Amino acid sequence: MKVIKDALQLQKVAFKHLINGDEIGLIPTMGALHEGHISLIEKSVKNDDITIVSIFVNPVQFGPNEDYLKYPRPIKKDLEICKRNHVDYVFMPSVNNMFPQDHKTFVEVKTLQDIMCGAFRPVHFRGVATVVSKLFNISCADRAYFGMKDFQQLKIIEKMTKDLNFRTKIVPCPIVREKNGLALSSRNSYLSDEERLLSLNISKSLKEAAKEFKNKSLNAVKKKAVNKLKKIPNSKIDYAEIVSADDLSPADKNTKRAVFTVAVWVGKTRLIDNIQMTK
Ligand code: AMP
Repeated sequence: MKVIKDALQLQKVAFKHLINGDEIGLIPTMGALHEGHISLIEKSVKNDDITIVSIFVNPVQFGPNEDYLKYPRPIKKDLEICKRNHVDYVFMPSVNNMFPQDHKTFVEVKTLQDIMCGAFRPVHFRGVATVVSKLFNISCADRAYFGMKDFQQLKIIEKMTKDLNFRTKIVPCPIVREKNGLALSSRNSYLSDEERLLSLNISKSLKEAAKEFKNKSLNAVKKKAVNKLKKIPNSKIDYAEIVSADDLSPADKNTKRAVFTVAVWVGKTRLIDNIQMTK
């Protein structure tokens, strides 16, 4: 496994692999790797000749009062995980390498970037779309793996890839959860033991909602889940919405494939989760 810190160097290496006929898989991450990330890595190792994991806590996707500085950065452990899981290259650029002082270009995916998480984190998806575009160009990836845990992000990246004619194919990957249902997230490390227990109500309410989706009205399904979420002590719901799994438009009674997606603060930690619901 090779660790590369410079974008141009990785791009040169990636071009060589392309010329050799290798297929390249990319897993963009912010590090603090867990089983969720590992599931993406495993898929790439199986599908691709070369697997590149990027580890970059991307400052341009964090708002001014968000957790950029305190975001966990266990570099040594992350590198061990990558090595153990047969990653070929870890791309770990500095902020200055990705976003030098004179950087002026940003990618925006209109409308989709402004709803749900985007309504509460105004610069977030612009930062995500910009860094992912750069990573696609730098890595020359044939395939890039994204978790359905960040469902809005996945949809935005799919749209961006289509609109900007990137050759990279997007591979959506299912949410990995703890046995108790809690969706794995690097931010779970912020939770106290008590908050962790309380957070289980998020996945529980989503699971119940998905069961009732076939037989009850959307309003009833949503109301019940929101009531359960509201009962979590010291919590605040940013949003709880049932949307079309295709384009994130609001679901209605004719929607066959919906996603119930929520963002909930438990204490000082913002958790997101979602569940697919089909008729
Ligand atoms: P992050 O490091 O949080 O930016 O996540 C990097 C990638 O891993 C994104 O595509 C996430 O959607 C994905 N990911 C994070 N948590 C999970 C999870 N619990 N299950 C599946 N994928 C995940």
